[in-house]
Order: sequence, then C-alpha cells, then structure tokens
Amino acid sequence: MTTIFISDLHLDKDRPKVIRYFIDFLNNLESDIESLYILGDFVEYWVGDDDPGDGLEEVFSSIKKKSNSIPIYFMHGNRDFMISEKFCNHHGMKFLKDPTKIKLHGKKILLMHGDTLCIDDIEYQKFRTMVRSPLWQNEMLKKSLEERINLAKMLRAKSLSETGTKDEVIMDVNNDEVISQLKKHNVDMIIHGHTHRPNIHKIISENKECKRIVLGDWYDKSFILRISDGEIIIDKSNLS
Ligand code: MN
Repeated sequence: MTTIFISDLHLDKDRPKVIRYFIDFLNNLESDIESLYILGDFVEYWVGDDDPGDGLEEVFSSIKKKSNSIPIYFMHGNRDFMISEKFCNHHGMKFLKDPTKIKLHGKKILLMHGDTLCIDDIEYQKFRTMVRSPLWQNEMLKKSLEERINLAKMLRAKSLSETGTKDEVIMDVNNDEVISQLKKHNVDMIIHGHTHRPNIHKIISENKECKRIVLGDWYDKSFILRISDGEIIIDKSNLS
C-alpha cells in the first residue's frame, strides 16, 4: 500500500493547467493508494468559508468524491489557513493540526507545512502569530467578502515583493529547529513543504539517521511523494 504526500499546489484560477492536472491525478489514483495527505498551500489564497473558490469548484467536488474511497487529509499552509475544519469536513477532507505525528511502515513521521521551521524569519513569525490568533481571524471574518479578497491580494503582493529581497538563508528552515522538532516528537522523519526547495536531507539526531523530506511546489512541475513499504518515490511531471 502507498501513501501520497503533496503540498504547495497553490491552486488558482489563473493556472488552469495545474487545476486540470490535479483533478486528473485524483480521479486516476492507483488502487493501492492508502491515503492522501495535503500539507498546506493547496490553494493560492482563501478568505473564509464563504470564499467563492472561483475556478476550484471541480477540485473540491473531486476531492469529496474521492474521499468515499480513500481518506484525504488536509493541513493548513500560510496561504490557506482560513480554510475551516467545518469546510474540510463538508468536502470530505480530514483536518490535521500542524504538526501531526503519524506512523507509517514502522517509521514515526512528523508532518508539517514547514513555515514553523523557518524561525530565522522573525518578521514572518510575528505575522504568523498574529494571523493565526482567533482574535485576528474573528475580526477578519467580520469584513465583507470583497474587503477580504482585496486584503488577500494585497498580502500576496507584499509576500512576493518581500521574497525577492529577503535573504535566501533566512527564508529556509533553521537546522537547530529541525533537530529540536525531531527530538521533541521522537520521530524518524519530517515531511514538509513551504520552502519550495524539494530535497531529501539526512540528519543525524541522537546517533540515529533521520530524514527531512521537503516537498516541491506545483509551479512548473507537479510534485508527488509516494511512500510504500521501504520505498520513497518522487514523481514529477511537466505542467506547462
Ligand atoms: Mn507555504
């Protein structure tokens, strides 16, 4: 049996090819797939349960349909943290807290979106704490849909311009934090996305070889991690 992990699809109506690819991938999943984990930034932005999800209608209806045959898990990223647990349940997705520990083929694995590992980006961490607070979210949801969509667009533009000027190292994970999470949760592996730097890192922690698997984004290529007994396979396909 195989478990699939994906993240950072950043689904958006402006990139219909990616949307089409994801729907086809989901509809044609092999029969040996045990479960599917979506580890954040599934959509480019989300402003609340009343978000019209323009262009994403078929994405969510396909998920709901597929969830009748396999469990589909969803974890927040920094773009789609306003997707509520209620929305997930309604669309057949099982909501996962960040981080969540699972056991797979005898290995203990910590699943995260990955932004909490980037502790050197102090400015971002402050922003994250603010927007994840119930107070901020309640205030946000009081605004009109239009206001929230405009704000989301503004934040995207701000994040894009900052990404261009911030130090590459600051925006990557902090290695001490990685080791501290491995120890804290007593796991053999961390799987996360967010940094858009796909890789399989080997880390020695307490005389044990651990792995940190970083998922890739779905900008030019799709990125699908498959884990079956003793095997780690990464599938990439061109999207353009
Ligand atoms: Mn992210």
